[in-house]
Amino acid sequence: MDNLAHALVGAALMRAVADRHVPRAASIGVVAANAPDWSELFIGLPGTRADFLVLHRGITHSLVGALVEVVGLTLLIGVGWRVVRWRLSRHGRAVAVPAWGWLAAGIGAAVLSHLYMDWQGSYGWRPFLPWSGTWYYLDWVAIADPFFWLVPLVALAWGAERHWAPLAAALAVGGTITVILVRARDVAATWVLVIYAVVCVVAVVGWIRYWFGPVGRQRVAALALLVLVVYAGAQAVVAGGRKREIRQRSTRASTPLPAMTGRYRVTCARRPSPAHWGRPPTVMLSVNSPASWRPTWTRAARRSTSGMRATRARAATDGRW
Ligand SMILES: [Zn+2]
Repeated sequence: MDNLAHALVGAALMRAVADRHVPRAASIGVVAANAPDWSELFIGLPGTRADFLVLHRGITHSLVGALVEVVGLTLLIGVGWRVVRWRLSRHGRAVAVPAWGWLAAGIGAAVLSHLYMDWQGSYGWRPFLPWSGTWYYLDWVAIADPFFWLVPLVALAWGAERHWAPLAAALAVGGTITVILVRARDVAATWVLVIYAVVCVVAVVGWIRYWFGPVGRQRVAALALLVLVVYAGAQAVVAGGRKREIRQRSTRASTPLPAMTGRYRVTCARRPSPAHWGRPPTVMLSVNSPASWRPTWTRAARRSTSGMRATRARAATDGRW
């Protein structure tokens, strides 16, 4: 998913796991939850944008890579913090430092949330690199989903102090994602826009009435994550039904399409553009994400079957199979 969703979910998750034991848990969660992406800067991905789409989500998104990221970040933050404490203590200032175990647990949860969120989309991840380059993907949730921004953002805002700084930050992020959604309103289903607006109103009421505040911030962060789990589960159910339907339709198509095994698979992507998502040897039969984004199922199916034929033809001329 996008880095804003990773950041907001990571902040809420680190807060839910380790807020009582790790100062600035939400900020550390933002850094940790994006580690699989920003650590790609250190290994360097060669080539063009098209190469990037193939090489992205490589070793930094594997289980081994995640372990290195968790250990490295825990050491970096834990040791750095203690050095700062030692220096400040020489000037008579006391600083609370995070407990090692809780720091590692929070960072571990945040890094794993990144891998899970990438897994639940159509792009997927390669957990067993460097030994196996097989991609795994659940195809449940669109690559960008407004509720993966809004729900953790509201939880973070409700758990903040009544101060202009967190309010300004929440309004800036909330305003940005609302502008993005409004601009994408013709691809977003009506129910998405309606529920989004309702959540915004509830968010304002909760902020004004001070439902949680810093005392309840760990609780509200956990609650937001629970909401997202239920939401993703609902999308999984809908996506499963639609994929079954596509499979049935494609076997009935006038030009018989190959069985949906091996190279052919059904995927839920916001824009049905096989080239856009990379992975040249794989034909992606794209339908719009079942829950979040419009065109009707039939339109999406027609588009994806013709798109699939086109890609097949293109791949055949490239000599891929
Ligand atoms: Zn990623």
